Amino acid sequence: MIDIDGAYGEGGGQIIRTALGLSCLFRKPFRMCHIRQGRKKPGLMPQHLTCVGAARLVSGAEVEGDRPGSTELFFSPGAAQEGTYSFDIGTAGSTSLVLQTLIPALLFTGGMSSITLTGGTHVPFSPPFDFLSGVFVPLLERLGTRVRLSIETYGFYPKGGGRIRADIFPADRIGHLDLTERGAVRSIIGHSGVGGLPPSIADRQQQAAIARISASANELVDITAIDTVNVRTRGKGTFVCLECRSEHSLAGFSALGSLGKRAETVGEEAAAGLIHYYRSGAALDRHLADQAVLYLALSDQGSVFTTEAVTNHLITNLWAIGLFHHYHYEVEGSLGEKGIVRITPAGKIGERTAPALT
Ligand code: ATP
Repeated sequence: MIDIDGAYGEGGGQIIRTALGLSCLFRKPFRMCHIRQGRKKPGLMPQHLTCVGAARLVSGAEVEGDRPGSTELFFSPGAAQEGTYSFDIGTAGSTSLVLQTLIPALLFTGGMSSITLTGGTHVPFSPPFDFLSGVFVPLLERLGTRVRLSIETYGFYPKGGGRIRADIFPADRIGHLDLTERGAVRSIIGHSGVGGLPPSIADRQQQAAIARISASANELVDITAIDTVNVRTRGKGTFVCLECRSEHSLAGFSALGSLGKRAETVGEEAAAGLIHYYRSGAALDRHLADQAVLYLALSDQGSVFTTEAVTNHLITNLWAIGLFHHYHYEVEGSLGEKGIVRITPAGKIGERTAPALT
């Protein structure tokens, strides 16, 4: 039984998602206390409960404590089974974060799984669908695994109701990453989208994103192409998602509209994220960095990459992975600054060192 203190590090939901995914993958039961103690409203929220329910269903787990607001959870999985699954978060909770739990759980079952998820597809504090399909899934492909994604309808806060589908192809091993230099930036592509709102908002977001790129890194303007889209949704929402495609790497940046937020601010925010990454010279953006490490830790070869920023989230996730799987990691750099992450399989020479959490 693995005992986990959910208050560790940033004390957020990532510890639960990582624990559920790896618990199913390695068939190791765990008990967690102080769930999401670092958050304003601690305990399990709808998105986390859907993750628990989904992990339970795919692995036939025995579960205790899976109630809204619960700060304790016991989870004991059986063997994860490939299959066709459908989950509805019921709110605008993030579909991509549920997928973040299920991919590791289902990747090594030996068969293909198809998952339909209903909830938020472009909601705060989570990867928007465009990031998953344009940046995260290509990284998985680079590591020799395959996930096919599609989106039927978009889900924004607060109505949700977006629907995505993921086909997870069986893997037998995960490759490694040697990515310290991103090389020259080849293109910046992106979408400025609206759903249930006037299309002129998408135009304003697009213009503001381009203007910000032009003001801060004019050399990128000629290789930037941001289109405008009007998406199908049950609610209302807007977004700007950008992808920076370099010689050796892909990175993603986004911003979401909300009531009272100017369209120009949305475009500028997404562009500002991209500019920060561009100036850092790092290969991976801060989000891909924290999402990649779970897979890199499972490889039988060592990996190294540079990240735009060392985050609490990254360090917390490295720690959570280590509770289920023996490996070594080393994070060079200060919190909030550009860093280098090295991951070494257990048994090979390596350290487990990282800057202190704030
Ligand atoms: P909570 O306790 O509320 O569930 P959390 O700790 O689970 O919070 P966050 O820190 O908000 O979650 O991050 C969740 C995940 O979503 C992380 O993997 C993070 O990298 C990713 N993420 C957040 N925002 C973005 C974004 N704009 N683009 C891509 N990924 C993102």
